[in-house]
Amino acid sequence: MLLQGKVAIITGASRGIGKGIAEKFIAEGATVIFTYASSEEKARALEAELAAKGGKAKGYKSDASNFEAAHALIDEVVKEFGTVDILVNNAGITRDNLLMRMTEEQWDEIMDVNLKSVFNLTKAVIKPMLKARSGSIINMSSVVGVKGNAGQANYAASKAGIIGFTKSVAAELGSRNIRCNAIAPGFIETEMTGALDEKVVQQWRDAIPLKRGGSAEDVANATLFLASDMSAYVTGQTLHVCGGMLM
Ligand code: NAP
Repeated sequence: MLLQGKVAIITGASRGIGKGIAEKFIAEGATVIFTYASSEEKARALEAELAAKGGKAKGYKSDASNFEAAHALIDEVVKEFGTVDILVNNAGITRDNLLMRMTEEQWDEIMDVNLKSVFNLTKAVIKPMLKARSGSIINMSSVVGVKGNAGQANYAASKAGIIGFTKSVAAELGSRNIRCNAIAPGFIETEMTGALDEKVVQQWRDAIPLKRGGSAEDVANATLFLASDMSAYVTGQTLHVCGGMLM
């Protein structure tokens, strides 16, 4: 029970990696607050699944890219659950296109949902964390943010931005015992990657030293480490969870 008595907020947990993190955190004793953009049914099903495991869980439809909505969410959670100990900024989308064809809208949407969301939630959550003089913030970046990728200039820029933001927050808030780290997943098999051609996917698996795509649980285990006191002396870091794809 590494998170016994802790209150955790996970953005974008109706499916994929976020859902895996919610399941892991509940199993470790946390109260889990999660958000989603539109997957109403999946969110209600996850709430029920987490409650059935004996944990306290609540899902909120809340657009992470909206500054006011992020602040309203944190206020509501603090009112109902007392504080926020852990924030996982996981919500993210892709709008892939070659730069030649990329629209301004595709650029802006990615920046808002992937990067501005991290600013919104982190800014809102530092108030209760400063009051408690403790907290762990974990931001979902990507190996693409470290090495770049053709067809993903917008996504790569947003994920690289997350790493710079993470290091800056770690430097600003370390003296208050608030830690901030990033995770850079490689190829994790979720709905986000499910739309890809199976032949291409197999080529990717073959090129990874561990010879498989990652699972949501692989990322959830790393997130648990960074959320818990097991990583009490770790801040400002980017943990690659990529089967050795990027060394
Ligand atoms: P996913 O399966 O597509 O799930 C995305 C989640 O984000 C959903 O719960 C979605 O809610 C939510 N979401 C989207 N826009 C939102 C918004 N504006 N406000 C609140 N929630 C929002 O994605 P995933 O593969 O699990 O990826 C999770 C994170 O890991 C993302 O940041 C992604 O960039 C990163 N990542 C993934 C991979 C990979 O290989 N899968 C690799 C590296 C990094 P709805 O269900 O309501 O739409």
